[in-house]
This record gives sequence, C-alpha cells and structure tokens, in this order.
Amino acid sequence: MKRYSAFAIAREAARYHTGWERAWKSPQPKSHYDVVIVGAGGHGLATAYYLGKNFGITNVAVIEKGWLGGGNTGRNTTIIRSNYLEDDSAAIFEKSRSLYETLSQDLNYNIMFSPRGVMMLAQTEHEVRGWMRTAHANAHQNVTTEFIGPERVKELCPIINIDGPRYPVLGALWQARGGTARHDAVAWGYARACSAMGMDIIQKCEVTGVMSEGGKVTGVETTKGRIGCDKLGIVVAGHSGVLAEMAGFRLPVESIALQALVSEPIKPCMDVVVMANTVHGYLSQSDKGEMVIGGGTDGFNNYTQRGSFHHVEETVRALVETFPMISRLKMLRQWGGIVDMTGDRSPIISPTPLGNTYINCGWGTGGFKAIPGSGWAMADMMAKGTPGPLARGFGLERFREGRFIDESVAAGVAH
Ligand SMILES: Cc1cc2nc3c(=O)[nH]c(=O)nc-3n(C[C@H](O)[C@H](O)[C@H](O)COP(=O)(O)OP(=O)(O)OC[C@H]3O[C@@H](n4cnc5c(N)ncnc54)[C@H](O)[C@@H]3O)c2cc1C
Repeated sequence: MKRYSAFAIAREAARYHTGWERAWKSPQPKSHYDVVIVGAGGHGLATAYYLGKNFGITNVAVIEKGWLGGGNTGRNTTIIRSNYLEDDSAAIFEKSRSLYETLSQDLNYNIMFSPRGVMMLAQTEHEVRGWMRTAHANAHQNVTTEFIGPERVKELCPIINIDGPRYPVLGALWQARGGTARHDAVAWGYARACSAMGMDIIQKCEVTGVMSEGGKVTGVETTKGRIGCDKLGIVVAGHSGVLAEMAGFRLPVESIALQALVSEPIKPCMDVVVMANTVHGYLSQSDKGEMVIGGGTDGFNNYTQRGSFHHVEETVRALVETFPMISRLKMLRQWGGIVDMTGDRSPIISPTPLGNTYINCGWGTGGFKAIPGSGWAMADMMAKGTPGPLARGFGLERFREGRFIDESVAAGVAH
C-alpha cells in the first residue's frame, strides 16, 4: 500500500494523478479462510484489522451483502463519547474513544476525528441527579467528564435557549474530549488497511447459510458460493437475529429502525454536540454546515431502512424549544438504519452455542463510537478463543444469569 502523505499528493499532482492505487481490492472469494467475518460495517472491519495488527492473523475474509459501510456505519450521526455509567461500559467505550484520538495516524487515513466536546443536557431535577452520578462514576473510571451549570452550557453553545418554559436547561454532563468523526472514512480507512494486509473484502456477497459439523462451524453459504473457515465472526448489527437463526441459536436482540435527518447547510453556529434526552433529540453541525439531527427509535420492531415524515415532525418539535433557530431551517435529507437493541442496552461480544463462532452485536443506537474498541475486543476474543478483559462482561450468559449491564439512561435515547 502506498502511504498517503503531502509528498504523495505533490508527486501525483506532478504526474496527473496516474499513480494512485485502488484503496482496497475487490477479489473473488477463496474456498477457505482462517477467519470469516460476516458484515463489513465498522465493527466487522475493525475486528479484521486488529486480528491482523495485534495477532498477525491475515488469512481473513470480510463478507458484505451490500457495499462496505453501507449499513449503520454509514448512516449514523457520528457522536463519540465514553461517559457511560457502568465499569464494563466505561472501559470499552473509553478504550474506543482513546483509539479514535490517533486512528487517522494509525490507519494513514484521515477519519476527521473532531474532539469538539459532547454535552448531555439535564432538563429535569431527576436528570441533574442522574448526570451528577455519572460524573462521579466516571471519575473512578478514569473517564474525564464534569457536571456543568446552565451558564457554562450557554457559553459553550450560544444557540441554546436555557430558559424553558417547559424544560429549562439545569446543567449538563460535559465530556470535552468527546466529539465526532467522518463515518464513511472510518469504514474506508479500516478497509484500506485490511486490504493492504492481504485480507479479502468481498462486497455484494450475501451470507445465506452457516455450515457446521460436530457442533463446530465449517463455513458459510453465500451468493458467491460456499466459503470454508476455521472461525466465524458474526458482526451484522440489525440483522444479527437473522444470522443467529442460520447458525442455530437465538439472540435476546430486537431490530428497530432509528432515523436521523440533516438541514440545509448554514454558516458555522455550533461547535459542540448537544444531546437532550428529556425531549428526545440531539444536534450537531457537520463540517459541510448541515445541522445533524437525531431522535429516538421507531415505536415498533421493523426492518424498514428509511425515514418517515412523522419522525421528522416529532424530533424537530421536541428540539425546537431548546433550539429555537431550527424552526427557520429547511430540512434536506432523512434516512434510517436498523439497530440491534438488547434489553439492558449494552452490547454482546461473545462466543456462541456453535463452536468457533463468535458474535458482536447489540450496539443499538450507539455503536459508532465503539468501533475501534469493539474491534479490538472482538479480535482478541477470536484470536484467543475466549473473551478478554474488555469483552468479558458482555457475554450472552448475562441474560440467563440476570447479570445485566444497565445502560438504558446512557444509551436508550442518547447515541
Ligand atoms: C440514524 C442512526 C444514528 C446513529 N447515531 C449514532 C451516533 O451518533 N453515535 C454512535 O456511536 N452510534 C450511532 N448509531 C449506531 C451505530 O451506527 C451502530 O451501532 C454501528 O454503526 C454499528 O456498526 P456495525 O458495523 O455493527 O453495523 P453495520 O454498519 O450495520 O454493518 C453490518 C453490515 O452487515 C451486513 N450484513 C447484514 N446481513 C448480512 C448477510 N446476511 N451477509 C453479509 N452481510 C450482511 C450489512 O449489509 C451491514 O453492512 C446510529 C445509528 C443510526 C441508524
């Protein structure tokens, strides 16, 4: 792989850009791999990357039914933070956030990480107590957050109306090193690095069955034929239940559409990310100037990967008291993605009842921020055959044992 650098840009400018190579190859599948990962979203690609980087396992195929990054990874609103309540969550999300800090250099691909700061508003007394509790917990978890008052909120984000009347802003949980990154670039950067290590990323190839013998996986059936493997990783977000059924087990996961929208581009007016969980909406401004707006999930389970008009209306109505300026914006685009929700709103990174088969799912509305950390933990588990410290708490057995990692406040509405 030729490195991207200022020198490379100058060299290619001098020779009419004839020397650039394709960022990743498009190979035909081989008959057998050491590891097959199903799903070329961020989590699947990051798993493959850290298998190669941390363990030298490069005979890997990542199989994708559409185009890489075309699932939730390319549909999310890119919020990155690690201000969760429970120790297991804080550990994996903070690992992820810290990997994001240097991911552009690591991948030699600009993922446009922008640690502009994330605030989660407190608009009821209950929320004030909740976020103060999280700030105290974070202090013990080496996650830097603080509870700030309404004046500081206004100073950091002047377009906010802090006076109500229904829901005045009483403060916020502030994480100064939270922020955003370019979602496609995260997928593309990992894909390029995986391809450079000799891995095969096979797009437009749907997995339609899982083959096994003696309780162990032997490969997958796909629209491009059978592909054998020693180990299988299932990393397909909203379609996890479908893949689990093919592999012969059930998952405690529901699939629901989550929607978002963007406004027309406007001049820079907001350089932080704000989440308002009481009214159910959040807002940031993209580098192009669009106001990126998200709300909650649909009220019913579905696989409908698109936006709906009533959702735009609900979300904008929720936000307009706190951000009066959005009443004058024209909305440009809306879309949806199918998210995978567990009962405790925490992910699953786990071995499965089928031997040599591992699953990574349940990131629900908030897994973009987790991509590097989740890939790191999943690769560690797949290489060693058993979950390491980052993944241990997120096993499937927790649902049987009632040992939930309840993040419904940190992850139920917020992303
Ligand atoms: C509107 C919206 C806003 C969000 N906002 C945020 C946010 O601000 N911050 C945040 O942290 N998270 C956010 N999320 C959540 C985040 O996007 C996801 O948790 C994360 O992207 C999941 O990544 P993934 O790699 O697991 O899944 P995906 O990116 O969905 O990748 C899974 C891939 O598997 C493929 N696949 C499925 N079935 C098969 C099959 N049978 N064969 C082959 N391939 C298959 C799919 O095509 C897909 O490409 C948001 C999600 C949505 C929808």
